[in-house]
Parts: sequence; C-alpha cells; structure tokens
Amino acid sequence: MGAYYDEIEIEDMAWDAEKGVYHYPCPCGDRFEITRKQLGAYEDIATCPSCSLIIRVIYDPLDFEDEEDEEDEEGEGEEAEDSDSEDDHFEDALENLKITDEVPRAVPVSA
Ligand SMILES: [Zn+2]
Repeated sequence: MGAYYDEIEIEDMAWDAEKGVYHYPCPCGDRFEITRKQLGAYEDIATCPSCSLIIRVIYDPLDFEDEEDEEDEEGEGEEAEDSDSEDDHFEDALENLKITDEVPRAVPVSA
C-alpha cells in the first residue's frame, strides 16, 4: 500500500445521494467510490470495484463527523423507502447547505 493512483479533493468528486457515496471516474471505465460513513471514520481511501487502483481523498474529517451523527439519530434511512418523500430529502439537503431566505424551490411537476 501507499501507492495511490492519484490524490483528489472532495470538491472534485461527485456526490451520489442515492448510494451515499462520493465517486470519481477511474481510468478503467468504472469509478472510485468512498462512502460518507468512511469519511466520517477518518478513512481517506476511495477504491474502484473493478480494478486494483485506489485514490486518496483530500477532505476535512470534521465536516463529515457532524453530519454523520445527525443522520444516525434521526434514522432517516428507514423512511427513505417511500418515494414520495423525495421532496423532504431535497429540503433537508438545502438546510444542510445553510442557504438562507431566497431558496429556489424546484417543485417537481410530476403527475
Ligand atoms: Zn478502476
């Protein structure tokens, strides 16, 4: 170990809210993945499931420690199965970002 394919800042990775992972394109065609749980546990190695490459993720563990605690206590995972609750999750995300008054409400126009 100790040989990373690359070092990537967390800002350069994409967030997959459904899987709860940050990901980054791997040269093999798949992608490196690291879960927010791993980040909260001070892990900084994202792995690609299709090959042996790994990358080191540059981030501030303290940011993820706090979020992890909140989510565990609310137990949102169980409620997430109801697809109608997507709006709630969207608003939760906005709250986490601490956006103030003028939040552009993206109301889904689904039937
Ligand atoms: Zn790969």
